[in-house]
Amino acid sequence: MNNFTVPFSFTLPTKIVYGPGCISSLIDELHLNNGNRPIIVTDKGVRNAGILDKITFLLERNNTDYIVYDGVEPNPKDVNVEEGARIARELGADSIIAIGGGSPIDCAKSVGVLLAHKEDKIKKYDGKTAATKPLPLLITIPTTSGTGSELTFSSVITDTLNNYKMTVKSQYTAAKVAICDPELTLSLPAHITASTGMDALTHAIEAYTATCAEPISDAMALYATELIYNNLVTAFNDGVNLEARSAMLLGSMLAGIAFSHSDVASVHCIAESLGGVYDLPHGVCNAVFLPHVMEYNMEYSVKRYARIAKAMGLSFENEREGAKKAVEAIKKLAVDVKLPLFSSLKVDINDFEKIAEMSVKNISTESNPRPMTKEDYLTVIENAYKHK
Ligand code: NAD
Repeated sequence: MNNFTVPFSFTLPTKIVYGPGCISSLIDELHLNNGNRPIIVTDKGVRNAGILDKITFLLERNNTDYIVYDGVEPNPKDVNVEEGARIARELGADSIIAIGGGSPIDCAKSVGVLLAHKEDKIKKYDGKTAATKPLPLLITIPTTSGTGSELTFSSVITDTLNNYKMTVKSQYTAAKVAICDPELTLSLPAHITASTGMDALTHAIEAYTATCAEPISDAMALYATELIYNNLVTAFNDGVNLEARSAMLLGSMLAGIAFSHSDVASVHCIAESLGGVYDLPHGVCNAVFLPHVMEYNMEYSVKRYARIAKAMGLSFENEREGAKKAVEAIKKLAVDVKLPLFSSLKVDINDFEKIAEMSVKNISTESNPRPMTKEDYLTVIENAYKHK
């Protein structure tokens, strides 16, 4: 269980500015980093929630030019990235401000990759090594407490030709500054609070139990688990509770740092495959499979699941009991925040085999604590469907 002797290196290239109201530091951060004409990358939901207006107000009050691209779709598509990059080029943006959940932030990162490499097609940058140039200035402003994308190295983009979610990842894709203001999450509807919160919890648990977990990611993952597990229900039931919203944002940030220095594992492999084929909300997919993958991993992860149970504040007599209680508590949490069952998501059972095939090929399969074949994935998917 202990990994104190495992060598690691830890780089966090992003400056974090955190706290209620800290969005007011945007102009200083922009100008400190020589950003004079940013393109704001966002989506219609963020615009409709009035968050975009708060940002443009700050920019206009300080006579800063800007361009807006608000065409990002959920599970952002390659065509969104390519359109954003074209607009940025045509209108002469020198920097990027990403405002929103993981979808606009991931889209903005990939827009940056295209601008840096003077390319038109994002498919070329699929994988961990293809993006090799520093991005233009990128400032990320999260408005959901889920993906941690404001602090991670990844950008998850749907390849619309193959209905597959590719990951554009490199040391260069992290933001220069992340402005993390919990007040911007107060308008998040309850069902999105639920799904994004379960996404963050999945990051923490998978990062802590991945084969490549290391001590600093462990520390982040455990505190993230504590914050998320103990605040999600309050944030869901009382969306304007600033303390719960703040704890959720901190939890998702820590979970994001944890998994980008460790990894995610098989829950994400299934969620990304399903999200690519069915365009379902990422957090819902994670929530559906998290307890089932934990049950599959149980014999390989008893000690670490028990440690997770402790972080959740559960009491237990021995590690096995603790590990089982953690799984049961996660199942109950999904019910408490009214997340749907897998069987209600209208996924064709004839596609299970294809989802299993895609999942086993995902680069994070090798990080799962227990090895997984295509047949193992199929069993987990079927168990989740039967809600066993
Ligand atoms: P999202 O960005 O798709 O947002 C979901 C919905 O919430 C959208 O309709 C949006 O407009 C709305 N919304 C966002 N903030 C709001 C607010 N404050 N008030 C009202 N409405 C608001 O959802 P997400 O779960 O944050 O991101 C999902 C994407 O992130 C997926 O594509 C997933 O694969 C990816 N992801 C990326 C990473 C990474 O490290 N890059 C990690 C995990 C997931």
